[in-house]
Amino acid sequence: MAREPRVIVIGGGAIGVSAAYYLAREGAEVTLLEQGEIGAGCSQGNAGQITPGHLPLPQPGTMWRNLRWLLRPDSPLYIKPSFLAEHMSWFMQFSRACTHRHMAQATGVLCRLGRLSFRLFHELARQKDFGFRVDGRLEVCVDEETLAGAKHEAMILSRYGFRYETLDGSALRRWLPQLQVPACGAVYYPDSGYCDPAAFVQAVAELAEQQGVTIRTGTPVRHVEVAHERVRAVVTDQGDFQADHYVLATGAWTPELVQPVGLDLPILPGKGYHVDYREAPGLPDRPVVLVKDRVFVTPLGTRCRFAGTMEFSGFNRKIDTRRVALIEQAAGRAFDLSGTEVVDVWCHMRPMSADGLPYVGPVPWVENLWIAAGHGMLGLTQGPATGMLLAEWIVRGVPELDLSPLRPDRYAHGVFHAALARF
Ligand SMILES: Cc1cc2nc3c(=O)[nH]c(=O)nc-3n(C[C@H](O)[C@H](O)[C@H](O)COP(=O)(O)OP(=O)(O)OC[C@H]3O[C@@H](n4cnc5c(N)ncnc54)[C@H](O)[C@@H]3O)c2cc1C
Repeated sequence: MAREPRVIVIGGGAIGVSAAYYLAREGAEVTLLEQGEIGAGCSQGNAGQITPGHLPLPQPGTMWRNLRWLLRPDSPLYIKPSFLAEHMSWFMQFSRACTHRHMAQATGVLCRLGRLSFRLFHELARQKDFGFRVDGRLEVCVDEETLAGAKHEAMILSRYGFRYETLDGSALRRWLPQLQVPACGAVYYPDSGYCDPAAFVQAVAELAEQQGVTIRTGTPVRHVEVAHERVRAVVTDQGDFQADHYVLATGAWTPELVQPVGLDLPILPGKGYHVDYREAPGLPDRPVVLVKDRVFVTPLGTRCRFAGTMEFSGFNRKIDTRRVALIEQAAGRAFDLSGTEVVDVWCHMRPMSADGLPYVGPVPWVENLWIAAGHGMLGLTQGPATGMLLAEWIVRGVPELDLSPLRPDRYAHGVFHAALARF
């Protein structure tokens, strides 16, 4: 009888814990190595919204909108000029992905992943409580232009089977009585969920341990050692760890780990923030998106989370108070904050791929090295599906869905990189 594979998963965020859990369920012997604490990365403080139907970030027209945004100090996007110059190739790759053809292909992939994940969220929530609820998502639009854009997006998603309803201003006031800003209407997606993202990562880590996964926190992987086209070991301060397969689920950190094996993985850190307010009657009790401000609002028990902004300023966790103020202003315009106060401000780096799709699959020239990273703004949503499909692929040799559009080497320059990896 074939021996079950031994797998090392590196990274304890939404993607890593999901991969570890589903690998163990497939019968693999799994060790998860995390440099800090479980869920201490980007997965900890995200908006918690599970949005199975989603378009990729690069779309026709995105570049023009971004250029307009860059001219406005109050826009949801900020790119530090020196960062733009340093990473021009990523921004060029992004702009090349802003086509109708790419959007159609990428939307199909994201929606298939999202739909599978949504089903898995229901299954996971039956085993552990992490605050998972299905209460739809209300995309609130303050002007006609924004509403037209939101309706257009909804119409595209409906072609992929996602239901939506449009609400006019008066219907919206009934659905969301807490809204104090005059709004023209909203788009409502019934098939969306939300949860406490930190509780989700902890819950899946606990489920993984129940399946026999060994979790080692405080264990940073310094180096992936390759010999004869295979990973021989990962090197940590606590010694070398060896297995049959190695999964890098290291979010925004992934490019630096794979560069020495010859894989040029276009992932940039896209910083986002959350501002948590103490729960109060003036705040919404259902998930909302303030579309114009690009702020996601999620009730999380005793807190209400306002999350958003995309800041390309480098690999750092410095809190820019101007970005925080933009979220606070959006919150104050939309809702009555008089009975509440800010209880937490947080930021972290989304792992942003250049074409809006994650990188999931093997590195072709290193036969036992797998990547699961680059989920951008959707890593919570896509965590369970990514973990399950990767586990099927590693253990059974083939995943349930075709993941070829997510190939990690889709930007690699073939032979040159492969040759580099062999030495
Ligand atoms: C403000 C904000 C709001 C968001 N809202 C949503 C949302 O509503 N819905 C949604 O689906 N997504 C959302 N996202 C995106 C989502 O949070 C990310 O896509 C997701 O967290 C990425 O998960 P990950 O596991 O790849 O990365 P991470 O959570 O960052 O995990 C990577 C882990 O790898 C570890 N690691 C790194 N290097 C090493 C090493 N060398 N050795 C050992 N361990 C290592 C890190 O410590 C970290 O714990 C949001 C993000 C932000 C910032």
